[in-house]
This record gives sequence, C-alpha cells and structure tokens, in this order.
Amino acid sequence: MAERMLKFVGTSQAMPDKRPAAERRRDFDEIYSSYAREKAAEQAARCSQCGVPFCQIHCPLSNNIPDWLKLTAEGRLEEAYELSSATNNFPEICGRICPQDRLCEGNCVIEKGFDAVTIGSVEKFITDTAWSQGWVKPIRPRRERTESVGIIGAGPAGLAAAEQLRRKGYQVAVYDRYDRVGGLMIYGIPNFKLEKDIVQRRETLLRDSKVTFHLDCEIGRDISLEELRRRHSAVLIATGVYKARDIQAPGVGLPGIAAALDYLTASNRSGLGDSVPGIESGALHAEGKNVVVVGGGDTAMDCVRTAVRQGAKSVKCLYRRDRANMPGSQREVKHAEEEGVEFVWLSAPQAFLGKANSDGERVSHVRTVRIHLGMPDASGRQAPQEIPNSHVNIEADLVLKALGFDPENLPEALAAPDLGVTSWGTLDIDWRSMMTSLEGVFAAGDIVRGASLVVWAVRDGRDAAERIHAYLATKALAAQRIAAE
Ligand code: FAD
Ligand code: SF4
Ligand code: SF4
Repeated sequence: MAERMLKFVGTSQAMPDKRPAAERRRDFDEIYSSYAREKAAEQAARCSQCGVPFCQIHCPLSNNIPDWLKLTAEGRLEEAYELSSATNNFPEICGRICPQDRLCEGNCVIEKGFDAVTIGSVEKFITDTAWSQGWVKPIRPRRERTESVGIIGAGPAGLAAAEQLRRKGYQVAVYDRYDRVGGLMIYGIPNFKLEKDIVQRRETLLRDSKVTFHLDCEIGRDISLEELRRRHSAVLIATGVYKARDIQAPGVGLPGIAAALDYLTASNRSGLGDSVPGIESGALHAEGKNVVVVGGGDTAMDCVRTAVRQGAKSVKCLYRRDRANMPGSQREVKHAEEEGVEFVWLSAPQAFLGKANSDGERVSHVRTVRIHLGMPDASGRQAPQEIPNSHVNIEADLVLKALGFDPENLPEALAAPDLGVTSWGTLDIDWRSMMTSLEGVFAAGDIVRGASLVVWAVRDGRDAAERIHAYLATKALAAQRIAAE
C-alpha cells in the first residue's frame, strides 16, 4: 500500500479544471470539469490512509473514504463504486454540492500543511464513471413484499428512503406537489452547481426499480394524510422547509423585491424549458439590473451567481456579519467573487426606497446601516449592533430576500392536529424510531432537522427506511403469531 498511497508530500492538491470566471458568467453549466482517470488516481493516492480517518468521522454518511480512495488509486473503480454507493444513494451529487470544506475535506489530517485530499471530486469521478460504464443498475429486490410505503416528498430524504425500502422489497409510492422529482435538488440548487440531468437520471433509475411517483399531488390538498395512511402500511413525511423568513423593514412590499426561492425556482424552471411568467415579464430576471441580495447562506450565494449569469448590471450581497461568520461555504464566496459579485459585509437593510415610473412605484434603493459585531449572545455568536448615523443608500432594481426558511404549519397543512411539532415548527419525532406522534407515520430530512444539507437528508432518509423496515417487520411477526394462536 505504502508504495501507491501517501503521496501527499510529493503530489500537490489539484482540483479538476475550473472554467475561467469570464466563461462561467455566460452560461449555467457546472464550473468544474471531471478528472481524467490518471488524475483521479494520482489525487486519491495523496491519502495517508489514517488509522482514525477524521474525514469519515465528519462525513454525515460515514463514507468509507480511505478505502475507496485506495481502490481508485489502484484503478479498481468498479469496487470503489460498490463501496461508495453502499453508504450513499447519491455519491455523485454529494461529491458536487457538499460543503466539503466544512465536512470531510475540512477535517482531512493532511489539510494542515499539505492541502486536503480532494475527496468530493474523487467521489464524483467514481460514480460518474460508474454511470458511463453501466455499473449503476435498477434495483431487483431478492424478494417482493406485499407491504407498501407512501413517501411524501421527492427530495433527497424521500428519494434515499424510497431506494432503501425498495431494496428490501417494499412497494414504494412517492407523492410530490411539484411536477418534477428532486425537491430542492431540481428547483432550488442552480445548474452551475448541479446539472439537472444528474438528478433526472436518478429519477429514471428509481422508476426502473419500480418506485411509483405521483407528481402534482399535494398531500393535504389533493389527498389527505388519513387517506395515505389507509393506502399504505407506513408513511414517511419528507416535505422539507419552505416558509421564507421575511425582512421587517419599511418598503419591503415594493414591486422589485422577491423571495430568493421564487427567483431560483423560476430560473431553474426556465433552464428546464418551462415557460415561466416571472422570467418572461422580467420580474424575476436580473438582466440589466442592479441586484442586491440580502443574506449570507447558500441560497444567497446561489442568487448572486444566478444574477451574474442572467446579465445583471451589478450584483451586491448584503450580509450583517463578516466573512468569517457567514453560514455559506467559503468556497462558494470565492466562486462568487471571481464571477464579479461584490460583498458588502457588516451591513443590513433598514428600509427599501421606491421610485415612481410609468408602471407605478418600484424599488430603487436599499437603505443600509453599518453593523458592529458586539459581545457574543447566548448562542455564542457575536450580536450584530447597528452603528448610528452610518446609512448608505445602494441602488437596486431587483432585491432578493435570502434569510433562510422555516417549516410550514404542517399539522394545519396536512389537517392532522395530532401531528406533534417542536417549538421550531419542525416535526417532533422519537429519535430512536423516527416515528412522529402518529402511529406508522415517520419523518426525515429538513422537516425534522430544519434547513440543512442534501447529505444530511440522505442520511435521514436511509435511517428512516431502516426504522420503517423494523416497524413493519415487527408488525408482520406479531400478525403471524396471532394467526398461529
Ligand atoms: P426538499 O429537498 O425540500 O424536498 C421536499 C419535497 O417535498 C419537495 O419536492 C416538495 O415539493 C415536497 N412537498 C412538500 N410538501 C408537500 C406536500 N404537502 N405534498 C406533497 N409534496 C410535498 N444543500 C447542500 O448540501 N449543498 C448545497 O449546495 C445546497 N444548496 C442549496 C441551495 C438552495 C437555494 C437551497 C434552498 C437549499 C440548498 N441546500 C444545499 C439544502 C438542501 O437542498 C436541502 O437541505 C435538502 O434538499 C433537503 O432535503 P429534503 O428531502 O428534506 O427536502
Ligand atoms: Fe464528503 Fe459529502 Fe462525500 Fe461525505 S458525502 S465524503 S461529506 S462529499
Ligand atoms: Fe486520507 Fe485525509 Fe481521510 Fe486521512 S483524513 S484517511 S489523509 S482523506
């Protein structure tokens, strides 16, 4: 092993080629190309095969990273794929969009001094190769079971659970209010991070595995939760969190101010070929506009970079803390800066000013105030404090609010008053069984955790599938016993 691995001293870290910013600004294609086979092997061989792999400890899926890196370095790609797909339903997706700098790579032991092993890029390479070689096959369970599971939500949590349950032979039906499969992977995350055909080939695989999809079907509106519970032996709620947090400031209702997810969904739909009124009217399009995005998370980063690609005149990101304290990935900030986004740190909106034109009044400026970070609050984060008389007016024709998401009122939306929720509005589950307060109804993903990451949704979906299997197996056993008595 030593001959092939441990090459981090002599071999520098090399990411796959990144397209120049000037080229990236003109299209929505992914910004990184793929490794060539030799490059992937060379980079995988930088791993020092740690006895205690911190990369694996900090991967939410506990991926067996050192072993698949070694297999890649040895050119044993099919085995690397088998191993990597054993713990992750979407390795090529996580390889693209996990914030690796905060997870696996940020904790790679060679990071200090030699730059981390490029784990995400190798993971993506392995599974993209598996797809191109035909190694990714539909599921053919060893035995079919009669019990069926209804899953509400075709995002990563619902899809990971669907795949795992199908592997065990359950009949799986996924319901989604959207017209496409993928949740935020299809309508939230932009193409330049995750091209849509990557998500769509996963959908095809699940359909070929005999998972059924009921799209344009909102539970609570088109079918009741009660009806779903009658139809299926168990139900999984994986509905994500979609209630956008708003800004409390004068003028926030002016035309020209939009919610980030409405803007990103319109852009993604348009990229998929849909006709989108907000794009056609220009209301949700940034071309020729001065764009101001308020927020510092992943959604804000996606908005600023989308606005650049739509041909905005200028793009500014307003964030009330500083670079070191922002929730978004530092890698994303770097990409955005390269693409021409200006970050206005320590700055918050105080009011939105309008200007009348032939169409009526529209937003024209954001009145901002400078922020000083004070003493840490109960959460340990420094509390932002406004600096008196520090106002600046920033020109803005389109303002996008990207302040995060809260759960909808699910007991109300699902007409299920007995469905228990936490004080945050997320679903209250028994963490051992992952069951909600309703018998046979489980929950996973953002609706339990609050707005999080795809990799955590996959983890939760897998865990929920295990718990549903345990629940149904126990029930089947009890039924057999009663029948035998
Ligand atoms: P979702 O993906 O939200 O899927 C929930 C599904 O449930 C949706 O399809 C919805 O239509 C459906 N649904 C809801 N209610 C009903 C109902 N009543 N009936 C039927 N269907 C219903 N994470 C990363 O790891 N990396 C990133 O780079 C990243 N970027 C992001 C960018 C943006 C703009 C956003 C908003 C999020 C981003 N995330 C990212 C977070 C990630 O997308 C989520 O954490 C993840 O998708 C959550 O998965 P989920 O399955 O719980 O929910
Ligand atoms: Fe890293 Fe995410 Fe892959 Fe885990 S799933 S190894 S955190 S990129
Ligand atoms: Fe390899 Fe880094 Fe993981 Fe150690 S921490 S096993 S060097 S990838």
